Amino acid sequence: MIDPFGRHITYLRVSVTDRCDFRCVYCMAEDMTFLPKAEVLSLEELERLCSAFVRRGVKKLRLTGGEPLVRKNVMSLFRGLGRHLESGALEELTLTTNASQLAKYAKELAAIGVKRVNVSMDTLDKEKFRELTRWGDLDQVMRGIDAAQDAGLRIKINAVALRGVNDMEFDELMRWSHGRGMDLVLIEVMPMGELGENARLDQYLPLSPGEIDYRTGGPARYFTVGETGGHLGFITPLTHNFCESCNRVRLTCTGTLYMCLGQEDAADLRAPLRASESNELLDRAITEAIARKPKGHDFIIDRRHSAPAVRRHMSVTGG
Ligand code: SAM
Repeated sequence: MIDPFGRHITYLRVSVTDRCDFRCVYCMAEDMTFLPKAEVLSLEELERLCSAFVRRGVKKLRLTGGEPLVRKNVMSLFRGLGRHLESGALEELTLTTNASQLAKYAKELAAIGVKRVNVSMDTLDKEKFRELTRWGDLDQVMRGIDAAQDAGLRIKINAVALRGVNDMEFDELMRWSHGRGMDLVLIEVMPMGELGENARLDQYLPLSPGEIDYRTGGPARYFTVGETGGHLGFITPLTHNFCESCNRVRLTCTGTLYMCLGQEDAADLRAPLRASESNELLDRAITEAIARKPKGHDFIIDRRHSAPAVRRHMSVTGG
């Protein structure tokens, strides 16, 4: 699949549920209303949709949410998609998780062929962790990380950078991550749903010797930190626009395809999926959607704007 700007679409991120066992303050309201079940695609439908994308050239699939590991029986979806790894059609199957359920699933994920996992964790301070996630337990997350490493999964820690909340901890987070052989990526808060105050990441860039040619298939720019020898990445959609190299589209758990995280335009794939058992209508809808992928996002660069640029929460599109 090639979009109108010549970009090859090889990466699909799939939100498998809008539900989560955490309520991170910058991501969800505490009293979130979740989707009625009938609107959410079944695991079989999700597998069929993902497989359609794999047939069209998607090489990397990331399951996210909500919290992917709280969806009932989600391992059956991983197993189904793992078959594309075995056939060689898919190069990577991975997930983004808060790690709360990783202790339970790490071994099975590794057995299916998952090699890397992104774990979202913004602080090493138990109380702060509870405040930020509202419902999360840092010890449980740590057990998840231990289990994943024991199972041989590589971990990347993603931390959202919040001014006055965790910006004084970046150094500690980095030493801890690198000490355990994990990359750390700091992410600017994107203006979606309710807003937290962004910590300015550009001021941390000089802390590292230079940008390196290290990519993990995403928009992060990486630096090697001399002292620890580990990688430190930055995802800075507000201060550095990386749309020209965008290779991805995002599917929600209701089968809506967003061609850009920072735009409202979307294509409904659930109707063509449910309309017939053959994939003709679905394939046509995918082709039409890719032809509409916009050139870039509309996140407002000017930080004085405090209204969200996109009304939906990250848990809808899948971060
Ligand atoms: N529950 C999983 C997890 O915790 O990683 C997957 C879904 S979560 C929405 C994915 C990522 O989006 C998390 O790293 C989270 O911190 C991030 N996120 C949520 N809202 C965000 C926002 N407004 N700006 C930047 N990142 C955000």
